[in-house]
Amino acid sequence: MRSNVLRTAQGGLRCLSRRQVSHKPKVAHQSCRSFIATPSYREEERKWTTPLAKQLTEAINTTGPIPLASYMRMCLTSDTGGYYTGAIEEGRDQFGRKGDFITSPEISQIFGELIGIWFIAEWMTQGRPQQGVELIEVGPGRGTLMDDMLRTMRNFKDMSSSIETVYMVEASKELRTTQKNLLCGEDAVMTESKIGWHSTCKYSGLPIVWTDSIKAIPQDPNKTPFIVAHEFFDALPIHAFQVVEVPPNQKPAPTDSNATSVSISRPGSPSTTASSPYQWREMVVSPTPQGTTHADLGTPKSQQHEPVPEFQLTLSPTTTRHAQYLPETSARYQALKSTPGALIEVCPDASLYAADFATRIGGTTTTTSSSSSSSSSAKPQPSGAALILDYGPAATIPANTLRGIRQHQRVSPFASPGLVDLSADVDFTGLAEAALLASPGVEVHGPVDQAYFLETMGVRQRAEMLVKKLEQTQDQTQTQTRDTEEKKREIERSWKRLVDRGPGGMGKVYKVLAILPENGGRRRPVGFGGDVSA
Ligand code: SAH
Repeated sequence: MRSNVLRTAQGGLRCLSRRQVSHKPKVAHQSCRSFIATPSYREEERKWTTPLAKQLTEAINTTGPIPLASYMRMCLTSDTGGYYTGAIEEGRDQFGRKGDFITSPEISQIFGELIGIWFIAEWMTQGRPQQGVELIEVGPGRGTLMDDMLRTMRNFKDMSSSIETVYMVEASKELRTTQKNLLCGEDAVMTESKIGWHSTCKYSGLPIVWTDSIKAIPQDPNKTPFIVAHEFFDALPIHAFQVVEVPPNQKPAPTDSNATSVSISRPGSPSTTASSPYQWREMVVSPTPQGTTHADLGTPKSQQHEPVPEFQLTLSPTTTRHAQYLPETSARYQALKSTPGALIEVCPDASLYAADFATRIGGTTTTTSSSSSSSSSAKPQPSGAALILDYGPAATIPANTLRGIRQHQRVSPFASPGLVDLSADVDFTGLAEAALLASPGVEVHGPVDQAYFLETMGVRQRAEMLVKKLEQTQDQTQTQTRDTEEKKREIERSWKRLVDRGPGGMGKVYKVLAILPENGGRRRPVGFGGDVSA
C-alpha cells in the first residue's frame, strides 16, 4: 500500500514532461525541401550513431526514401534497437528524471487515482455490472498508472470484484517485465500463451495478461471493457503530407512505388482527382547527403551544436500511394487540398486503435461475414468506456509536430535513431471521427483540457487528503517535521503542475477524450461536465 508515498524521486520540477521539453517553434527542425535523389554519399565511409541508423540507410538505399511513418515505427519499436523495444542492454530508462521524459502518472499518484475513480463512476453509472469487466491499458510505461488505478479500485470492493482480467498492451519486453514487477512482484512468474504473457496481480489475485497489440485481446460482446490510453497515441507513427500545385501542362505524376514500402489499401478507397491542379505529396525520410550543413537543414540554433542529423525529411517529388489515399479519408483533410503548402499529419494506427476501442464498447452492426469484420461483433448492450489522455490540438489537424526528445532536451527526430524518443501531437478530432465511424453504439465526449478534467475529478481535494494523512502519520510516528514539510510541498508542486494552465503547461496542452456507450448525449460523464449518476 502506497497511498501516501510521494514520488519525490521522479517528480522534481526540473524534469520536463514529454510535451514540455521545449516551448520553441515546432517547425524549424523539419526541412520541407524537395527530395533530390543524390546517392552521392558513401555509406562505407560513414560512422553510424546506432545500428538502426545503418540498417535504415541500407533499407532506403534499396527501396528509396521511406514514409515518415515507416521511419518512426522503426525508431520506436524495431527489434534492432527501437527506442522502446531495443535499448535493453544499455540499461536505459525512458522515464523519470534520469530518463528522457516524465509523464503525469510518474509526477503524482493522484493522476492514476482519479482515473481509477473515473472508471468506478462509469461502472456505477452503467448499472454496476457484477462480472465481465475488463481493464485494458495501452502503452503502460512503467505500470504506475495501472498500479495507482488498481490500488484505488481495491477500496471499491463491488467494482474490483467485477474485474475479470487486466490487459496490458505493451510492445516492449523490458517494460512488460517492469510492469509485472510493479503489479505482481519481482518474484511472480510470467507464463506465455497464444494470447501473450500471464501473471497474477498482487491486488486481490487478478489475472494480468500482456499482449503486444490490442488485436490479440479477444473481442467478446458480453464483456464490459474499461480502456485507458495515456501518452500512447502520441507514440504511434504518423504520415505527413503537403499540398503542391501541379502546373497545368504537367500530367499527374506517376506513383513512386519505391517510396511505398508500407502499403495500405481498403476496398472502395477514393481515387485521386486527376483534374485538380493540386496534389498531396508525402514527406519522406532519406539519409542526409554528406556535406549537408545545419543551415541546409534549417536546424534550430539550440540544436546546432549537435552533429548534423543522419536523416532528413523531404517532400517526395512524385505522388505515393499513401498520398493518394490517406488525405482523402476525411473531409477535414480534403478541405485543405486547394491550399498550396498546407501540411497535415495523419496517423492510421491511431484511427485503428480508436475504432477498436469503439467496437469493443459499442459493437458494430456489421452482420456480413466478410473477413475484415469477422473479429468485431454486434453487441446487445453497449458497455464500457475508453479514456484517452494525450497532447494535441482539440479541433485542428496536427501539422509539423514531430519531435525528438532525449534526456529532457528537444533534439532532432532524425538523429541517433533508436536513442531518441519520437512523438507527435494527437489528432483528437480524428480519433473521435474514427470511433464514431467504427461503431454506432458509442458517443464521444471532449476533448477537455487536462486541468478541467482533473479539477472536476477533485485533484485539489485529493491532494488535501494526502497532506492531512501525512500530518496524521507525523503525529503518530513523530517523524521529522522537515521531511513532512518537504513531502507536503512536493504534493502541492506535483498536482499543481498537472493542472498548470500557463503557456506550455500540462493542464492546457494535455487533453482528455472519452468514448462511451451511446446514450443520445443525455448523460455527460464526470470530468466532462457531468455528475455521477449511480
Ligand atoms: N502511459 C505511460 C507510458 C507512455 S510512453 C505513462 O504515461 O507513463 C508510451 C508507452 O507505449 C510505452 O510503454 C511504450 O513501450 C508503449 N508503446 C509505444 N508504441 C507501442 C506500440 N506500437 N504498441 C504497444 N505499445 C507501444
